[in-house]
This record gives sequence, structure tokens and C-alpha cells, in this order.
Amino acid sequence: MSRVIFHNSTGAPQAPAPKGGVLDTHGRPMRDLRISVTDRCNFRCTYCMPREVFGADHAFLPHSALLTFEEISRVAQIAAGLGVHKIRLTGGEPLMRKQLEVLVGMLAALRTPEGEPLEIALTTNGALLARKAKALAEAGLQRVTVSLDALDDVLFQRMSDGGVTVATILEGIEAAARAGLAPVKVNMVVRKGMNDAQILPMARHFRGSGHILRFIEYMDVGNTNGWRMDEVVTGAEIVGIIGAEFPLEPVGAGYRGEVAARWAYRDGGGEIGLITSVSQPFCGDCTRMRLSPEGRLFTCLFAEQGHDLRGLLRAGASDAALAERLGGVWRARGDRYSEHRGEAQREHKIEMSYIGG
Ligand code: SAM
Ligand code: SF4
Ligand code: SF4
Repeated sequence: MSRVIFHNSTGAPQAPAPKGGVLDTHGRPMRDLRISVTDRCNFRCTYCMPREVFGADHAFLPHSALLTFEEISRVAQIAAGLGVHKIRLTGGEPLMRKQLEVLVGMLAALRTPEGEPLEIALTTNGALLARKAKALAEAGLQRVTVSLDALDDVLFQRMSDGGVTVATILEGIEAAARAGLAPVKVNMVVRKGMNDAQILPMARHFRGSGHILRFIEYMDVGNTNGWRMDEVVTGAEIVGIIGAEFPLEPVGAGYRGEVAARWAYRDGGGEIGLITSVSQPFCGDCTRMRLSPEGRLFTCLFAEQGHDLRGLLRAGASDAALAERLGGVWRARGDRYSEHRGEAQREHKIEMSYIGG
């Protein structure tokens, strides 16, 4: 099969940052802020928080260590002044943070320097979504991504280890769509020998549903999942598997920095996305800053250390001082981990359940 090109990321210098915006050392603007609101989760996905490591005696952060909603909202407003347009709430499991809709409401009230509202999105495992979707949408949430790795209940339970059924997650997805959060994106991490036989059943289920199924290559994030390259099913392989049953054609990127390569069913049955972080990395277009639950900034999913912001926040720093810190961390950023994977192994990477993907 000829090589399938997924991304138009060239690594070439990007367009200038918007007024007041900042560029990193590779010319990438800071456009997105991913906020992890908790390190806790009601699941123990084997590839993210394996129970052997995240057991009953695991020390999660105490509540007092977490940024308050006011602190998060303040950081988001300062980030908006530096070019951020989009905020994604994540975790751990973000719906485990009580009254998350209150935070969503606070973020929805923020404006960019041009007076535009920020786009507010959420990534969730979906277990609590059916009961939360309406309140979140009413508070101003615009988009939701739900993680679901299998339709087969036994396999799903084995992978997610949370005692929650597939039916509950599907109800959450439908509730989100009814609440106005459509199209819902559904993320499936594919791990060879584990759930690759679910690629076609998942594609069949979500084809024509109005939801967008996205396949994520299994990544070497964190230090606990024992990742091996031969467990990765590449985006090209996935396109081949689905395309053999339902012909597909590539679609252009929806917006600058979109990480999922989009493919449409030729018969009009909707589209799928491929997130090929391992086989075809997209560092050249990576415009994401990450904020950890206790206020550390991370400039890459594979970073080994963060930059503390909470100390400044709690010491009464001015907005100007916070903007200087946030902007300074971004300006110094040189990350391209996925493009150099294998060349230099990192020993102490940040855990996905802490920083949220
Ligand atoms: N708990 C929420 C959830 O599962 O959607 C939000 C946090 S979770 C860390 C964010 C995303 O990262 C999920 O879609 C999850 O499947 C994905 N993820 C976790 N570990 C991964 C890995 N090793 N490779 C690829 N994706 C991973
Ligand atoms: Fe929890 Fe999400 Fe990690 Fe699964 S992927 S353990 S749901 S944080
Ligand atoms: Fe962005 Fe780091 Fe992922 Fe590259 S490896 S796309 S810089 S988060």
C-alpha cells in the first residue's frame, strides 16, 4: 500500500501570532489551553492508570492542592490575552470534580482581546455524562469528546476497569447530543492484540450516527503502561481495515492545528478521524499549553517537568506578572518529542492521568 499522508504539518514557521500572542522557538503560537481539573478517575484503564500502580493506597492530590475555579479562570483569562482561543477540560476524569458546570460558566464568560468568547470543550470517559450533559451545555460547554475503546462489554470492562457498562457510556453520548453538544467525538485508543478487533464494530456502530469516531494510536505516555511499539496499530492500517468494508476518502483539516486527519465515508455515512501521534507526528502544528490540577504548566505531553504557576497565584502576583510567566514558558518552548521518538528515551515522563492528554 502506498504511504498514506495524514497531516499537512511541515514544521515550517507558522503565521505570526495574533496581536498580544506569543510564539515558541519553532514559531508555533499558543492557541489551546488544556486544563486538567483533577488527577482522580473512576476508571483504571490499563494503559493509563493500571490498578497495580493506582491502587487503594495511591496518594492523589489533596483538594487544597488543586487550583480553585477562580484560579483556573484567572489563568485562562491571562492565556486568552496571549493568544489562546480554545480551552479543553480534562483530567483524570473531569466530571469527578464537583460542580464542574460552575467552572464552565466562569470560562464561558471570558473574552479574547478581540472580544470573542473562548471555545470550551471537555474530554470525558462518559460514565457521569448522562446526568451532567444538560447542566454543562447550559453553562456554556460547546463540545464534548467521549473516550470509548470497545463496544464489547467484557472487553470494555477489562480495559477500563471501572465497573461501568458500554450502555452507560452510549447513554452519555446520546445525552450530550440531545443537550446540543453534537457532533460528539468518540475517541478509541487502539492497542494491538487488545481491542483492534473492535475497529470495525465501532466503525459500523458510529457510521451514520452523527457522532465522529476518532482512532488514537497507542502512545508511550507516562511510565506505567509498559508501552511497546509493536502494540501500535497505525492510522494507515486502520484506514485500510475500515476502507476495505466502507470506502473512504481524505478530507482537508477543519482548522489550523487540528490534530486528527479526517476521512469521509464515500457513501455519505459521515467521517472518522485518525490521531497518528506515533506513526506521523504533528509537533509542527502543536499549539497546546497544558495546565496540571495543581497549577503547573507543561508544554508537551511528554514533558518531564512542569513550571509552577500556583506559587505565583497564591503569592498575590499581578496579572502582568502571571502573563510574563505564562508567556515566558511558551516562548522558551522547543518540544518536538514525537518527531524524535526513539532517539532519546525519557525516564520520568508526566502521567496521562495527571495531565489529561
Ligand atoms: N478521563 C478522560 C477520558 O478518558 O476521556 C480524560 C483524560 S484521558 C487521560 C484523555 C484521553 O487520553 C482519553 O481519550 C484516553 O483514551 C487517552 N489516552 C490515555 N492514555 C493513552 C495512551 N497511552 N495512548 C493514547 N491515548 C491515551
Ligand atoms: Fe481515567 Fe481517562 Fe485515564 Fe481511563 S484514560 S484511566 S478514564 S483518565
Ligand atoms: Fe505536541 Fe509534544 Fe505531542 Fe509533539 S510530542 S505534538 S510537541 S505534545
